[in-house]
Amino acid sequence: MTQRLVSRMRGFGTTIFAEMSALAERTGAINLGQGFPDTDGPPALLARAAEGITGGVNQYPPGPGTPELRRAVAAARRERYGLDYDPASEVYVTVGATAGIAAAILAITEPGDEIVLFEPMYDSYAAAIAMAGGVRRPVTLRPRGGEGGRFAFDPEELRAAVGPRTRAVLVNSPHNPTGTVLTAAELAVIAQLCREHDLVAVTDEVYEYLTYDGAEHVPLATLPGMRERTLAISSTGKTFSVTGWKTGWVMGPPELVDAVRTVNQFLTYTANPALQLAVAEALETQEDWIARLATGLAAKRDRLSAGLREAGFRVFGTQGTYFVLTDIRPLGFDDGLALAHRLPELCGVVGVPAQVFYDDAEEGRPYLRFAFCKRDEVIDDAVARLARLRS
Ligand SMILES: *Cc1c(COP(=O)(O)O)cnc(C)c1O
Repeated sequence: MTQRLVSRMRGFGTTIFAEMSALAERTGAINLGQGFPDTDGPPALLARAAEGITGGVNQYPPGPGTPELRRAVAAARRERYGLDYDPASEVYVTVGATAGIAAAILAITEPGDEIVLFEPMYDSYAAAIAMAGGVRRPVTLRPRGGEGGRFAFDPEELRAAVGPRTRAVLVNSPHNPTGTVLTAAELAVIAQLCREHDLVAVTDEVYEYLTYDGAEHVPLATLPGMRERTLAISSTGKTFSVTGWKTGWVMGPPELVDAVRTVNQFLTYTANPALQLAVAEALETQEDWIARLATGLAAKRDRLSAGLREAGFRVFGTQGTYFVLTDIRPLGFDDGLALAHRLPELCGVVGVPAQVFYDDAEEGRPYLRFAFCKRDEVIDDAVARLARLRS
């Protein structure tokens, strides 16, 4: 049959998460691949959404989102980071962060424009840039320090990636899949470049609440000269353990938010109103629940990291997110993609090969990502199975 898919979308196939989750399903392996929790969000959040649906909150909400959610999002930004956004013109609700990112990229990228971003990169970034006809310019994050070290970028490489066609820098912190939380110094380097070259910053902050050991999430928009050029994107899924809810938001100066609105109104137009009402309330009332989630996740990270180390992996430090990245070479393997496909048969566990998050597959070859947002007994079972790799 003729190839009907446009050439710019070829190679995107099925997302690795769907592929690995299907593999887990088929083999009965424990799925530490896709990042979704196996416990539910705050009961009050769930109840409020159910009430909304049975209580008639089911028709189109305003295109930019319900006023309640936009106000709650703005209030949370002000309280946590001292950033002021006008709920009417500077906050815009989308169908998850994914739609927000896609709309943002489509709104600001002319064909041939370059977007600088960091690899390993979340898989939707490359697809969104391709849909826009843009060109991605990845800067590689590499492990620094020995055992337990974190991934970081080389400021010179970042500078070298910016050229005359660069339109924007796409930044994800806390970072999936490395667990890196960018430091003040690293953010300052990015901000400096954005100001110098008049770039837009698109920031994916979906793990903003999930940082550990005192690592602090600092939005790029808080740096001098950045608020007016940043589209900050966050969402409900990770913060409240409801990854299927797909309720996110974009924040920025009116001109940029309006650009996103122009595109998004023809992608999804608007997002589920009952969920928006429930999330608005939860942002105001569930701070303690979120804090407990983060404390619990830090302990799960330690639990899984210790088990992976015991099983023979090199385990990198994780300061945020759901994930821990490992190097498989101490176990005698060198290709993460191949090992990911064999892992169910070898030990009954599924992880995600990090190389699919790289343009330069060689850079990502030895890494496997595991999710620790699972019940302790599931982690313990997985750790016991992973121990078989040694023998
Ligand atoms: C999960 C995730 C998203 C998707 O967020 P949704 O609100 O579910 O669309 C975006 N970016 C990163 C880095 C993620 O891990």
